[in-house]
Amino acid sequence: MNILLLGAPGAGKGTQAKLLQKEYGLQHLAPGDILRDAVKKETELGLQAKNFMDKGNLVPDELIIDMMLKKIESTDGVILDVFPRNIKQAQALTEYLKKIDKKLNYVIKIVVKENEIIRRLSSRRVCPLCGHSYNKVFNPPKVEGLCDVDGEKLIHRKDDTEETIKSRLQVFEDHTRPIIDYYKDSGVYFEVDGEKDFMEVFEDLKSIVIE
Ligand code: AMP
Repeated sequence: MNILLLGAPGAGKGTQAKLLQKEYGLQHLAPGDILRDAVKKETELGLQAKNFMDKGNLVPDELIIDMMLKKIESTDGVILDVFPRNIKQAQALTEYLKKIDKKLNYVIKIVVKENEIIRRLSSRRVCPLCGHSYNKVFNPPKVEGLCDVDGEKLIHRKDDTEETIKSRLQVFEDHTRPIIDYYKDSGVYFEVDGEKDFMEVFEDLKSIVIE
C-alpha cells in the first residue's frame, strides 16, 4: 500500500506518518528529513540543498526526484510525506509508479488554517538526532528542552522562524495547491481536519485507509 500525505508545513504530517508507519508497517519517506540528514552529514546533496532549505524554498526538482524515486524503488509500501510537492514531481512519480506496476492507494490532505500553522511552527522544537518533534505549548517533552526518545537537546529549526514560515506557506500555496487539483479527481483523494487532537486525526486517517 502506498499513501501520499499532503498539507502545509506544520499540519502534522510527520506525526501522523509515524503513527501510520507503526500501524501498517509501511516505510515513512520524508524528503525534508532525508535532506536535513544530508545537510548534517555535509554530503554533496546536502551542500547543494542547504541554501534553498534555509530560505524555505523548494530544492530543485532534479535533485529531489532522483533522490526520492531511488528510495521508493527499495520499499514495499510507503508513506510519502509531501513528495511530490509540485506538478513536475507529481508527473515524475505517476510515470515511475506506472513503470513498476504500482500506484498511490490514498492521497490524503491534512487541513489546518494558516494562523494555526504559524502558532504551531513558531513553538515547534525538534530532535536533531531522531527527528521527533514537540511543541513547547501543547506537546512539550517530559524534560524541558530534551528529547523523550534519546535525551538529545532539542533545537528550533532554522526554517521555523515566523518570516521563513510565511515564505514556506507561500511556497506551499504556489506549488502544492495545484497538485491537489492534479489528484482531486483520481478517486483516491481525501481530506481530514488536522486541527483536531492528533489521535482523533489518526482515527480519521485509519477510517479512510483500508488495508
Ligand atoms: P519539510 O521538512 O517538509 O518542511 O521540508 C523542509 C525543506 O526541505 C523545504 O522547505 C524544502 O526546502 C525541502 N523539501 C522538502 N520536500 C521537498 C520537495 N518535495 N521538493 C523540493 N524541496 C523539498
